Amino acid sequence: MNKILITGGAGFLGSHLTEKLLKAGNDVLVVDNYFTGNKDNLAHLLPNPHLELMRHDVTFPLYVETDQIYNLACPASPVHYQYDPVQTTKTSVHGAINMLGLAKRTRARILQASTSEVYGDPEVHPQPEEYWGKVNPIGIRSCYDEGKRCAETLFFDYHRQHDLDIKVVRIFNTYGPRMHPNDGRVVSNFIVQALQGKDITIYGDGQQTRSFCYVDDLIDAMVAMMNTEKGFTGPVNIGNPGEFTMLQLAETVLKLSGSKSKIIHQSLPSDDPKQRQPNIDLAKAKLGWQPKVNLEDGLKETIAYFKKVIA
Ligand code: NAD
Ligand code: UDP
Repeated sequence: MNKILITGGAGFLGSHLTEKLLKAGNDVLVVDNYFTGNKDNLAHLLPNPHLELMRHDVTFPLYVETDQIYNLACPASPVHYQYDPVQTTKTSVHGAINMLGLAKRTRARILQASTSEVYGDPEVHPQPEEYWGKVNPIGIRSCYDEGKRCAETLFFDYHRQHDLDIKVVRIFNTYGPRMHPNDGRVVSNFIVQALQGKDITIYGDGQQTRSFCYVDDLIDAMVAMMNTEKGFTGPVNIGNPGEFTMLQLAETVLKLSGSKSKIIHQSLPSDDPKQRQPNIDLAKAKLGWQPKVNLEDGLKETIAYFKKVIA
């Protein structure tokens, strides 16, 4: 049994990760400040004596004993990370410093939940890990993008300077049950709007693309990465290469939910990336992983979840 720390464990991805690691027989400590996370995401797991929850903000030091750390703490939706951008940067940067310090003291293996946002509005398509990205350092998305880039820098410097056992995954847009209904990200927005008969809000002309990964696939890859051989640090892209325009996504959600909602267009937020698709050759080779769930099947599961939540 491993003692595993998950920061941001009460959030969307963190709660699925907690569930998987408990099922595998580990001892899990979840640390979260509940900014976007929710105790309800973990309520069904609370009877398990091997789960412990701690309210804590990762921008402050943490002293616990642990064998592995999954560092997920950070709001991920643009609406949430732009609400208090200074805190977003602090969460990524001070949070990384604190968790890396903890890993150094305990000699724990540590995985960083990085993001496709490190590629910014990419000029290389699809994006391989070697691409350095095109990121605005002073825009409204920068608190998140640059915070995550700096966290990657810290991870690699701790690795080189202190021989820390690090793993970095770059997560592409992931969706599924337990996203918050007011999360603000596109999949949850479209589904909630469709189920409530409200207008579907496409930002801009809807020709921008994203590649959507179902949560179960993502969590499998994250755990596989944590358990790769020492010395393999990544970064590794994790995502589903199926690429869709936001217009295609809206039409698919309307079809699968049987909704009569109208599609409307609203202004495009600044620095919104025009295209995004992961090159997952490295994940296939090093993790023996590739996504199994296609967009329609994943959306059906997610729509069923939101039907229950909204009811
Ligand atoms: P989420 O907002 O549901 O979860 C983030 C969790 O971190 C929440 O529980 C929140 O309360 C917690 N948190 C935020 N600031 C904190 C702080 N200072 N101290 C302690 N806890 C804090 O988002 P998610 O989709 O589950 O994302 C989890 C991680 O994965 C994030 O680091 C995110 O950047 C990364 N990621 C997610 C996606 C995606 O599509 N879901 C894509 C790329 C990267
Ligand atoms: N988007 C949209 N309508 C919404 C929410 C988002 O058209 O109600 C668009 C957004 O402009 C972006 C894409 O959907 O082009 C994905 O947005 P999201 O916030 O989910 O993730 P990110 O931009 O961080 O990839």
